[in-house]
Amino acid sequence: LSNRMFHPEDTVVDVNGIQVGGENPIVIIGGPCSVEGESMMVEVAEKVKEAGGCMMRGGAYKPRTSPYAFQGMGEEGLICMDKARAKTGLPIVSELMSADKIDEFVKYVDIIQIGARNMQNFDLLKAVGKLDKPILLKRGLANTIEEWIMSAEYIMAGGNKNVILCERGIRTFEKYTRNTLDLSVVPIIKQKTHLPIIIDPSHATGDWKLIESMSLAAIAAGADGLIIEVHQNPECAWSDGQQSLKPEKFKQVVEKCKKVAEAIGRSV
Ligand code: PEP
Ligand code: MN
Repeated sequence: LSNRMFHPEDTVVDVNGIQVGGENPIVIIGGPCSVEGESMMVEVAEKVKEAGGCMMRGGAYKPRTSPYAFQGMGEEGLICMDKARAKTGLPIVSELMSADKIDEFVKYVDIIQIGARNMQNFDLLKAVGKLDKPILLKRGLANTIEEWIMSAEYIMAGGNKNVILCERGIRTFEKYTRNTLDLSVVPIIKQKTHLPIIIDPSHATGDWKLIESMSLAAIAAGADGLIIEVHQNPECAWSDGQQSLKPEKFKQVVEKCKKVAEAIGRSV
């Protein structure tokens, strides 16, 4: 169903009126790794919007490596994002970890993220395949492009064709960065599928200093969007502070992205 051979036109996913994919403007999504409260979320969403971002991200259910680390605010976190959406109009992207929370996500979220760790949680993929919400399907930590596409097929086979792929870096022997950003997937995904693809330079690098260059490279490579972690005070973030941009820096990155987009005949 995702194969370009049987569907030559690009899929365009409609997110509350924002079109993702095809010839449409590149979407830049910004926001914290974890939602930390209502005022924090409203403030960061306002800053993301002011900087030129068109959607907000925020984790309410967090897949943490350690069970002792902060696990997310849960439904309360989604409600904080709902408040931030009411103030800014920015659509919400948030990660769903378990099918038993689907009703909450249908109620509050505009794009349901399936995280890297759940890319091959086939029951979860089948469950979101029955919805008509856009799904952001992240590539698994150590999954091939074929496996990733097959996971998209699981969602599409259930009837939900609104799939956006997201490369977020893969495990390699390299330890300098958190993961290795595999940018070659952009042209490969475009060749093999008709689905939009966005890049997450934050989880791919794990280092805020690398976000700008990898964002520009992603746009040059033909990505349809970026999802970037932004926090007003990264040193104190409840998760992933070291890879989060301050709003001012995020704004600079958006400005530079506009220039690269223009150079390749697109816009942000
Ligand atoms: C996230 O987006 O906060 C996240 C946990 O991402 P990933 O699934 O790519 O690690
Ligand atoms: Mn994160």
